[in-house]
Amino acid sequence: MNRALWMRIGQRSMLARRGDVEQATRRDEAMMARALVLARRAADLGEIPVGAVVYHTPSGAVLGEGHNQREHARSPAAHAEFLAIERACAARKDWRLNDCTLVVTLEPCAMCAGLIINARVGRVVYGAADPKAGAAGSLYALTEDRRLNHRVRPIPGVQGEACALLLREFFERLRSARKTRARASGSPRTRRAR
Ligand SMILES: [Zn+2]
Repeated sequence: MNRALWMRIGQRSMLARRGDVEQATRRDEAMMARALVLARRAADLGEIPVGAVVYHTPSGAVLGEGHNQREHARSPAAHAEFLAIERACAARKDWRLNDCTLVVTLEPCAMCAGLIINARVGRVVYGAADPKAGAAGSLYALTEDRRLNHRVRPIPGVQGEACALLLREFFERLRSARKTRARASGSPRTRRAR
């Protein structure tokens, strides 16, 4: 993961705020705070810090939560929002989530954007934009594609700086841990690098 890329994420999420986009509600902000707690939990477990919450839009009842657990689950599908959507469907005993809002700390990837469409998620709110893999406005705008039978315009950049900061700090810690290990082992490559 490239450092400069992650430094740009916060800026991108600010730029992503457009006049024609629905504004986040106070409840969306509160749910993002909850998603950030889940993201920190992921970081504590050595997972890339992303957290997600699905809530019933009219009542605010939380139906599903998740944090990234790709490493521990050894599954490419174990993204935070993927797990939160599956749990919400199980709680509702329904695969349709039209009256629900997904709140996630990082812009959904193509896989998760596909699940959002298939689950008919009514609203999507995200924190940091992902210029490398985002499919909800950055690389693709899958959830707004007119050719598909369900569309949702995401609300980007909600607490985007805090979401991006968590990711930057995680990758910085990872890099410094790698350097320390390399120094301790005194590998020939490290010696050459000095
Ligand atoms: Zn994903």
